[in-house]
Amino acid sequence: MACELCGKDVGKTTTVKVEGSEMEVCEDCKKYGKEVLTSEKKNQSTKEVLQRIQEKKSQSRSGGYEEATEELALDYSERIENARLENDLTQEELAKKINEKKSVIAKLEREDMRPSEDLRRKLENTLDIKLTEKIESAPIKTTQETEGLTIGDLIEEKK
Ligand SMILES: [Zn+2]
Repeated sequence: MACELCGKDVGKTTTVKVEGSEMEVCEDCKKYGKEVLTSEKKNQSTKEVLQRIQEKKSQSRSGGYEEATEELALDYSERIENARLENDLTQEELAKKINEKKSVIAKLEREDMRPSEDLRRKLENTLDIKLTEKIESAPIKTTQETEGLTIGDLIEEKK
């Protein structure tokens, strides 16, 4: 299609209002006028809005579960100590097994130190225990909010 302003032949023109009349212009000439929403464009944006709603819905639907996070259990020190004793290990022996200093185990069992992710994994694997608890976050509020809205509301909002 040719631009009605500069005459350049471009693949895609945009409808703009120049001095009150609508013209098909190229990207370069767009700046001379005000962009007009053609019906084609309106359809497009409705589709976009619909898509956005779908995305939001699927996100919030799964969100409550996917966002469940693992957090260090409050009684992690007890869990370590109990498991160590069950395995008949001294602090020193356990430390050796996971390549740490005995003081690290002592600190963990006194709750003087929170294990790093790496250390926690080593302890869990060596002692065959779990030091984390699943904390499920509350479902995201937008689920209800989005479902209460009609597409029309969203388009209104967009304007
Ligand atoms: Zn042009």
